Amino acid sequence: MADDDLIRRHQACFPPWIPTFYERPLVITGGDGRRLTDAEGHSYLDFYSGVATSILGYRVPEVWDAVAKQLRTGVVHISPYYIDETRVVLAEKIAELSGIPDAKVVFTLTGSEAVDLALSLAALHRRSNQVLALRHAFHGTSYGAMAVTGDRRWVGMGLAPFHVSHVRGGYDRYHGVYRELDDAAYTEACTRDLTEVIGVSTADRVAAMIFEPVQGVAGGAPLAAGLLRAYQPILRQEEILLISDEVQTGWGRTGRHLWGYQHHDVVPDLLVFGKGTGAGFPIGGVVGRAEVLESMSGIRMSATSGDPLSVVAASVTIDYVRSRDLPANADRVGSLLLEGLRREVLGSAIVADVRGQGLMIAIELADPATGDLASEVAVRVQETCRRNGLLVGLGGTEEQCVSLLPPLTLTEAEGREGLAAIVSAVRSVEH
Ligand code: PMP
Repeated sequence: MADDDLIRRHQACFPPWIPTFYERPLVITGGDGRRLTDAEGHSYLDFYSGVATSILGYRVPEVWDAVAKQLRTGVVHISPYYIDETRVVLAEKIAELSGIPDAKVVFTLTGSEAVDLALSLAALHRRSNQVLALRHAFHGTSYGAMAVTGDRRWVGMGLAPFHVSHVRGGYDRYHGVYRELDDAAYTEACTRDLTEVIGVSTADRVAAMIFEPVQGVAGGAPLAAGLLRAYQPILRQEEILLISDEVQTGWGRTGRHLWGYQHHDVVPDLLVFGKGTGAGFPIGGVVGRAEVLESMSGIRMSATSGDPLSVVAASVTIDYVRSRDLPANADRVGSLLLEGLRREVLGSAIVADVRGQGLMIAIELADPATGDLASEVAVRVQETCRRNGLLVGLGGTEEQCVSLLPPLTLTEAEGREGLAAIVSAVRSVEH
């Protein structure tokens, strides 16, 4: 079959650390609404949105029309040395919506690049390359972003152009002794750790702390309530800049608010966006305090970013998110899913935890015999979901989670359909 040949060619030309999901990899040929079609003609409800990139779903007329109109101008890239109205319009929108006073914006192509840029800006502003990140964090695949990633598989590679200290505060909340604590006791323990790290481990001043409001790759792990508020006075006192990595959590994914940080009653100095910003068209960037963004003066940056196709796609995406109040939809449909999963599968012998916020949810799987977290069980649930017509992702510190990151346009009916597919998959893997 042509598919088998394509799968073989794929495996031959990419390294093994770019893996494919599924024993029989999926060859995607099209998409519409919240559904993807494969080369064998199957249709799947998509609970992964690319990798949280296609936040509006597929074949969205508003996005296509804006991109088609831009294509007709004849330019698909405009030098950063010229003025492009679409870029100005988007930057104005993002600055205003960031919630950061007096904000300026820089565009990049990807989230990783944007993380690197935010770290570099903080380092230049503070004249220090020491940064704090949370244990188990994931921030991307470029050099600086890999260095701050706290997942042990990446830390093990020993990449560190920055001096990085990983502190508690993320997925730890859901693991080991910390799991037994309430938010206040957990926050107190983390705050003690943070003070110690700032005072002892770092010889020089610290430039910034980067965090994900919900640790995504670590497995849908929301930060404990009150944690950032407890950290903030300590960071302020040391003049440590706060960087919110909203590459996954941005544009309403966590429900109710546009940004994940807004659940925590703090305002970051810099905010990193990416992934869903262009509804699948590649665009990321940094928005933040003008004073910090202006610290990179004296150079002339001319990165290949902010192309008008992605820029107009992003402008329309943001209007779409706001006019249809997708943060409210993520809250409503996300609660339906989270509550449904807690009710239906949390008692299962193979389910260790169900957690998340908005439409960013993880089911953590365990070996029923030992209770140990188990990536093989997660893979089996994922495979069974596919047979049930549902695509889900994998995540977790040991790949022990099934990750749900559906488009933010997911309807309640689709939410229930997906829930039924997962519940049935968990039951069938359990037996
Ligand atoms: N930050 C976070 C929180 C992410 O989840 C990711 C991607 N998974 C990135 C940064 C990197 O983004 P990109 O893949 O666009 O480089």
